[in-house]
Amino acid sequence: MTDEQTPSNNLDSILGTDVEELKKAINVAIEARKNAKTFRSSVGIAMQMYDGTIFPGFNIETYAHKGYHAEEVATINALSAGYHGTDFKRMIEIFQDAGHDEVEIFPACPLHCWGTLLEFTHPYLQIVVADVSGNVKYSIRLNELFNTDKGFDIYPSVKIREIKPKLNVMPKLPLSEELKPFYESDAKFRAYCDNVLKVRKI
Ligand SMILES: [Zn+2]
Repeated sequence: MTDEQTPSNNLDSILGTDVEELKKAINVAIEARKNAKTFRSSVGIAMQMYDGTIFPGFNIETYAHKGYHAEEVATINALSAGYHGTDFKRMIEIFQDAGHDEVEIFPACPLHCWGTLLEFTHPYLQIVVADVSGNVKYSIRLNELFNTDKGFDIYPSVKIREIKPKLNVMPKLPLSEELKPFYESDAKFRAYCDNVLKVRKI
């Protein structure tokens, strides 16, 4: 991490003009983390929609086999309210494991949660990682987590989504102005919006 990316001075550069909105979301993630049902690791998530609605998520560990990651819980909370796909603006993640030190944080867990987010949100979801005190460490778009310059698509590709369509995947909101440059420049994202999400046009 460079000096330019330290928590105290990077909020504006990361998130433009909505710093107050970001702080509100960070607080939701901090509070959500307190609800973690866990033996050790506690994760808090705030999933923010483009209309400003924020959904909390926390991890749930069980005595049985299956646990639930905070990213999953927040995503399901949003889906339950009818949001999907390009409705998702940003995910705040606050993570600390008892066995890790304070600076060892990461933007959702690879494989399972990255895939879950890709399937139910969209490639340009903004992921903001903060420490347990709410200091922003960094921000990244979901698709930046994947190395896709090797000529392959991460499952589920737009192609498989078109071949095997799902019900109830239409977003609740029109395509955000913030996402429109990506819609114009990224043919796969455009196909996802048009053919899979059938996102409402303004
Ligand atoms: Zn996860």
